[in-house]
Amino acid sequence: MKKIAVLGSTGSIGVQTLDVLKAKGELFDVFSLVAFSDIKKVLEQQREFSVPYVGVINLHEQTEGVHTGENCLLEAVEGADTVVVATRGIVALPAVLKALKEGKTVALANKETLVCGGKLVNEYAKKYGGKLVTVDSEHSAVMQCLNGENKKNVSKIILTASGGAFRNFSYEQLKNVTAADALKHPTWRMGQKITIDCATMMNKGLEIIEACRLFDVSEDKVEVVVHPQSIVHSMVEFADGSVKAQLASPDMKLPIQYALTYPERFGCDIKPLDLFSSPLEFFVPDENKFKCMSLCREAIKKDRLYPTALNAANDVCVENFIKGKIGFFDIADTIERVLNEFLPQYDKVDVKSIFDTDRQVKIITQNIIDGVL
Ligand code: MG
Repeated sequence: MKKIAVLGSTGSIGVQTLDVLKAKGELFDVFSLVAFSDIKKVLEQQREFSVPYVGVINLHEQTEGVHTGENCLLEAVEGADTVVVATRGIVALPAVLKALKEGKTVALANKETLVCGGKLVNEYAKKYGGKLVTVDSEHSAVMQCLNGENKKNVSKIILTASGGAFRNFSYEQLKNVTAADALKHPTWRMGQKITIDCATMMNKGLEIIEACRLFDVSEDKVEVVVHPQSIVHSMVEFADGSVKAQLASPDMKLPIQYALTYPERFGCDIKPLDLFSSPLEFFVPDENKFKCMSLCREAIKKDRLYPTALNAANDVCVENFIKGKIGFFDIADTIERVLNEFLPQYDKVDVKSIFDTDRQVKIITQNIIDGVL
């Protein structure tokens, strides 16, 4: 049985990962759980799965048997065979590197780790033989399309996007939308931050960067098409013009399970695909309304610490948008300003420079929003 560590076990993906692990109990043993702050929920999970190690990153009161602090992410990796990373932000980057260094499999549901630390992650995977598999539904689709193919024949990766809550909104309407409007996502059930990222299409921009990292292609080889039904999860075009796609009902259980059993397949409890319920549509994304995608392309072209700066600025903007402090278009405008004014303080991209840049850019972004800068 594979021993599984679940980092971020109480969030949306963490909970769905445990559903998959429960359904496939004969294959997996839940070895460690780490939550950000929800001690009640993680202790329930511990009881249900009889988990030997439990950690809570942000815990104010000591609780017997519960490990605390960011260090618990590193501890949770020890002794596990596969590490599912479903934490928010870049907090799990050191744990991902440690797991890869020890030759383990990392199932990555967190895109920030790749956006900011992708080069390091790839270096570690290559150097130490750890295996990296993605839990992101679009990238899982690409991974499935690439099975049995020679990478040199890939001419284009086509990521599909649901278009988020504001797909059909006019420029005028978007000026006044609120976080509550954005949180009504049409197809996927997810956490707050990522749902706002879907509404601004920053999520798709981050996924462009993620695709560049995972599949070793330049951003101009990654195209985005809006596909509101979320049935085609992504596509790959090959040198001869042939295009492969992966289709399934939109349910994260499938990419989670595939990452855990890759490249094997097992039965999975999702709704069978119904090709007749609604026609499959595809649209060109409007980059005037959703500027975040082009900002992501710029950041990955400059690479180094630019994607880290972009991600940090977005984090702060989304927080302020949720609080009602800034409007929808302020998100992209503020990130654009941060990127234009960003001067990397470090030549090297390593854990220290990524975390320092993240911290510094967050302060700068908040100051811009508060009108101090
Ligand atoms: Mg995705």
